Amino acid sequence: MSDKSFNAFKMAQRQFDDTAEMLKLNQGARELLRNPMREYHFNIPVRMDNGEVQVFRGFRVQHNDALGPCKGGIRFHPQETIDTVRALSMWMTWKCAVVEIPLGGGKGGVICDPHNLSEREQEAICRGWVRQISRNVGPLSDIPAPDVMTTAQHMLWMLDEYETIHGGHYPGFITGKPVGMGGSLGRTEATGFGVVFTIREALKQLGLKPKGSVASVQGFGNVAQYAIRLFQQIGGTVTCVSSWDQEDQTSYAFRKADGIDLDGLLAITNRFGGIDKDKARDLGYEVLPGDDWLVQEADVLIPAALENQITGENAGSIHPRVKLIAEGANGPTTPEADAVIEQRDIFLIPDFLANAGGVTCSYFEQVQSNMNYYWERDEVLGKLDSKMTSAFIAVSELAKTRELHMRDAAYMISVSRVAQACKNRGWL
Ligand code: NAD
Repeated sequence: MSDKSFNAFKMAQRQFDDTAEMLKLNQGARELLRNPMREYHFNIPVRMDNGEVQVFRGFRVQHNDALGPCKGGIRFHPQETIDTVRALSMWMTWKCAVVEIPLGGGKGGVICDPHNLSEREQEAICRGWVRQISRNVGPLSDIPAPDVMTTAQHMLWMLDEYETIHGGHYPGFITGKPVGMGGSLGRTEATGFGVVFTIREALKQLGLKPKGSVASVQGFGNVAQYAIRLFQQIGGTVTCVSSWDQEDQTSYAFRKADGIDLDGLLAITNRFGGIDKDKARDLGYEVLPGDDWLVQEADVLIPAALENQITGENAGSIHPRVKLIAEGANGPTTPEADAVIEQRDIFLIPDFLANAGGVTCSYFEQVQSNMNYYWERDEVLGKLDSKMTSAFIAVSELAKTRELHMRDAAYMISVSRVAQACKNRGWL
């Protein structure tokens, strides 16, 4: 969404086409899987606080549901586009397949900027989104979740609207709900922790220890914050983070050579993950241009903000010390950058594997909601660790035996599982 010339869907299709070629998929499978099965575009009229009606554009895309009901977040973003939502829905299909959960891929969005909306207006958008799509989503067909700039509160408003329309309790309709209101313990930290479970396994393969490893992170929202928390807990140091500055309409990187203080930074961060640059300076951080997170002398890079961040133009400036890139965000690396990363032999944990902790825990939440019985946090995180670790090992084993890059290996596993499910159902 950051660059108008960048089309995430074209990138997702290109990645799929390469995989289809490697797997020698037949024409029918290629046509079925390179496009979403269904998509919905709709208007959401909202009476604003000033009394006027503003119409917001909403989307839901269901890429493929051969393995189970569609699953995927809803993003609120001023530059949201249908192609971004299409790409993300496709990546959700591969993500669910790579961690072997019985779900398909979906994604939703609304073109809006929550920075400029009151709580009441946001609630109206959430309820309006559900009113427009309530016949086409549900616990047995398509289960939304939070994503960029949407929260547990948004999910609860959406659930309430859905339950009002359908006249019953359906906590399995949506995930990312507040704990105590159908949410799962561990969900908030799941994506960031999942990223670090895969980093831990990758470091083992690279013969590195977390202690002494240095990371630089792009973004300081949900994924980044919990990835940093667990990376520090296992002994690593994070020397740089970056975030978007709404006032200046640009991003900044915040560096502290001996390691950032996570709680100290959280205290000066707004609810959108924006760090206050003046207060950061007072706390002794160097405030650098936003792109500087990429050029830091670090062992691990964790892009955890947006898509299209590591490109053919800037991949060459990655520091020679970097040995591992773990994609917390969806689609942060373009195919041109992938070529540079491969050529430099940097180990890459692809997005739909690295950040699959969120959907895995969402799946656990859905299971708990449908049973109306909730697990302890340790049980959730233990199950999450074992799912993420098994998925990482399956991908890295295939990468080793077939001499593939990790992204290609992950794609081969996912696409073949989904194509097989379509075949088993008689679609192909
Ligand atoms: P978030 O809204 O909580 O945080 C986004 C962060 O990125 C904020 O700190 C923001 O300031 C920063 N940011 C935005 N533009 C930036 C820029 N140009 N440069 C530097 N920083 C910038 O979002 P999130 O939930 O942490 O999601 C981050 C990424 O991870 C997205 O790509 C999302 O699709 C993906 N993801 C999220 C989850 C989840 O469970 N939250 C799961 C899987 C994937």
